[in-house]
Formats: sequence, C-alpha cells, structure tokens
Amino acid sequence: MQRLVLATRNAHKVTELSAILTEAGVAVELIGADAVPGAPEVRETGVTFAANALLKAHALARVSGLPAVADDSGLCVDVLGGAPGIFSARWSGRHGDDRANLDLLLAQLGDVPDEHRAAHFACAAALALPDGTEYVREGVLAGTLRREPAGSGGFGYDPILQVDGDTRTCAELSPQEKNAISHRGRAFRALAEDIATALDLG
Ligand code: IMP
Repeated sequence: MQRLVLATRNAHKVTELSAILTEAGVAVELIGADAVPGAPEVRETGVTFAANALLKAHALARVSGLPAVADDSGLCVDVLGGAPGIFSARWSGRHGDDRANLDLLLAQLGDVPDEHRAAHFACAAALALPDGTEYVREGVLAGTLRREPAGSGGFGYDPILQVDGDTRTCAELSPQEKNAISHRGRAFRALAEDIATALDLG
C-alpha cells in the first residue's frame, strides 16, 4: 500500500487524518514523523498558514522520500486584522501556554463590543511529493469571541470561540461535532481529493 507521512509526532493527529482519508475512500498507510529517521524539526518562518504548512511538508518529503502532509493553524480575530494568526501558539510569549494565550487575548479585547468580536479558526493543509510537487488547501471555522471561557473540551482557544449558528463554544462540542465542522477537518477533507489525484488512488 502507498505510504504517506504526516508531519506530526502526535498519534492523535495521525488517527484523525487516517479516519478522514478512509472516509474519503483514499487507501494509504499513514505514518507519523516519529517513524521517519532524521525527521526534521522545521522552523516555521513563513508568514502565512499555507507557507508554514508547505515548509513542513516539503522538508519531510525530502528526508523521507515519501509524499508528506503537514498543517498549520491558528485563530484570526477580525478587529485585530487577523492576529494572533500564525502567532496563535505563542501569543503570550510562551509557546503552547494555551491559558496565558487565551487570557491575553481576552484582555486585549476587553473594550471591544459584541458586534465586533468576529473571529475564525483557519487551517492550511499541504501535500508535498518528493519531486517537489505541492498542493495546499484551506479550511475555516467561523464564530464570535466570548468574554469568558466556557466548556472543558478541546484545546487552545476553543473555550472562547462560539461557533456561528450555535450557542456553544468549540470547547462545548463533542470531538465528533467539532471534527465535522472544524477548519482542520475541512482542510484535510479537501486535501484528501488532492492526495487521491496526486498518488493516483481513490
Ligand atoms: P500549530 O500547532 O502551529 O498549528 O498552532 C496552532 C495554534 O493555534 C494552537 O496552539 C492553538 O493556540 C491555535 N489553534 C489552532 N487550531 C485550534 C483549535 O481547533 N482550537 C483551539 N485553538 C486552536
């Protein structure tokens, strides 16, 4: 079976993408970056989600000699001109400190009235082949920022983004409900079509 490598060391993300590919009828053996000797830790020097996803996918395809998939995502707030954006994971200065990132963002938006609190999660999912061919797809999940966190599911900014058309935050959705509408789910489901085309599968 054709092997495909995903630029993550997170087994949960491998399972998530496997399920999406299976649902899309794309038969591949998906492996994580852990299974690739010498898999690089790529510096995300791009200024867009797509650029960073492509950087990671190309680096892994080069080292592994396999088609490689990578993603990059974040929260974009309209009134902040799209910030935190690519800086979402380190908005407070400490990479991956979800609570500090969320608290800083809420403080920055303290004066912003409800009608101007629109925001969305965005994700770019990229496929790179060892010959340098590339594909990238994007997905968004739109909502409005609450003033207080609500819900215990999810991660990152989930407790403060209320989904458009729903009364709940992302942290109040079940994992299945979130996957069905999420920026990552949308980007990966779109990329599944490119994977099928590029690898002549489906
Ligand atoms: P990445 O791991 O470089 O894609 O960075 C993603 C960062 O964006 C995370 O650390 C979160 O702060 C934020 N983020 C991306 N997707 C989500 C989501 O689905 N829920 C909550 N926060 C998210």
